[in-house]
Amino acid sequence: MNVTIDRSGCVSCGTCWETCPAFFEQNPDDSFSQVIEHYRMGKNPAEGSAPPELDPCVTESADLCPAQVIRCE
Ligand code: SF4
Repeated sequence: MNVTIDRSGCVSCGTCWETCPAFFEQNPDDSFSQVIEHYRMGKNPAEGSAPPELDPCVTESADLCPAQVIRCE
């Protein structure tokens, strides 16, 4: 599953990296959410590819994101 974070709209609430720490993390410099390096597409921290076993927690994070900036397709 491909995942995109519109990082400019992230409010750093922490829900995604608390719900799915295997896929999301907080960027230490700008405090916004990003995809952990292992699952990134290229070098873009805002785009990643989630393996099937992480689909449930990634989808849950997208559903819970108060800013609705996580897109899964
Ligand atoms: S749940 Fe949404 S607003 Fe909260 S840290 Fe993650 S991407 Fe940002």
